[in-house]
Amino acid sequence: MQFQVRARDMIETQLRRRGIRDERVLEAMLRVPRHEFVPAELVTAAYDDRPLPIGEAETISQPYIVAAMTEAARVSPGDKALEVGTGSGYQAAILAYLGATVYTIERNPRLTVGARERLTRLGYLNVQVFSGDGSEGLPANAPYDVILVTAAAPSVSPVLLGQLADEARLVVPVGDLYHQDLLLLFKHGGEMATRFLDPCQFVPLIGKGGWPERSAGFD
Ligand code: SAM
Repeated sequence: MQFQVRARDMIETQLRRRGIRDERVLEAMLRVPRHEFVPAELVTAAYDDRPLPIGEAETISQPYIVAAMTEAARVSPGDKALEVGTGSGYQAAILAYLGATVYTIERNPRLTVGARERLTRLGYLNVQVFSGDGSEGLPANAPYDVILVTAAAPSVSPVLLGQLADEARLVVPVGDLYHQDLLLLFKHGGEMATRFLDPCQFVPLIGKGGWPERSAGFD
């Protein structure tokens, strides 16, 4: 009950006020229990306007960033979605709530196990959690209608672009280790169009299509 009040407040003060308009996305952000995706000692801060630590020096993204990425991706029921950077599993749960079949990949095995257990326990059965370097996507299940990269990339990997179906959307933060531009790339008739969404600060994408090793980051 108390969490529902906090979630409703988050929707109004953090999301609607900053321009999130898609009612399906707002409903998903209301219904997916964010407090289940943060460490026990941080549940009272779960709906705060900020990213939170989830252990392993990683974070669950700020609610607004999750909503902005999800809205930009225009997820429809039945879409095949790839998320790179599972973390807590929260973004994957939002995509699943919207009816996508979700493939999500996480490089940290401890986070992979935690997210898999959490998503199963909460009943998000249309999510498969993979372990490994997702910086060049997950070719086995390509092509995807939606790809969300939830860690900061130095550039848009051409390998990832090659895993987009026609009319697919890719949302990815691109920049240096400290500041990135959140970009929406849209594929149409074999051509790519790019739109700037927001400035952002994510933890780094580490791997073949990302940064060589961890140094800093937020989000
Ligand atoms: N989407 C997550 C959530 O809802 O909790 C938050 C993601 S967190 C900001 C970024 C995550 O990307 C971290 O868990 C990190 O371990 C992961 N990551 C970094 N590089 C990766 C890679 N090459 N492949 C897969 N995951 C990666």
